[in-house]
Amino acid sequence: MSQHFKLEELERSQIALERGIQNRCPEPLRINLSFTAAGLERLRAYLGGKAIVIDSGYRCPELNRLVRGSDRSQHLSGQAADIRCPGFGDPQAVARALLPARFILGIDQLILEATWVHVSFTLEPRYQVLRCIAPGEYLEGLG
Ligand SMILES: [Zn+2]
Repeated sequence: MSQHFKLEELERSQIALERGIQNRCPEPLRINLSFTAAGLERLRAYLGGKAIVIDSGYRCPELNRLVRGSDRSQHLSGQAADIRCPGFGDPQAVARALLPARFILGIDQLILEATWVHVSFTLEPRYQVLRCIAPGEYLEGLG
């Protein structure tokens, strides 16, 4: 997909593996996934070139239902990734570093979740920032 992100990494899901779900991104959505990979490259460079771990990238509908993802989740269209960057810091530190850079990095949505950071990339980014305060409950900003 890009220099540091393979298609397999963006399709890999521990839950899909455990449940025997074939989480493969359909060909027409691969262009979105490539766009996401390009965005992740910009993030990676911005965070000092530290390795980025992808907890979840593309999700097929079956996997998305299983993880109780929203019906409109950008994971379904290959536009989002849940990431960690242990070499940089915890998710809180990563989100705070990305916050002011969301404009130059072209981040559509930046969400600080409990143990990861959700980022999405679209052609017309909203630069939206949210934090999860309880399962399914979000507030604006990082607090
Ligand atoms: Zn996510």
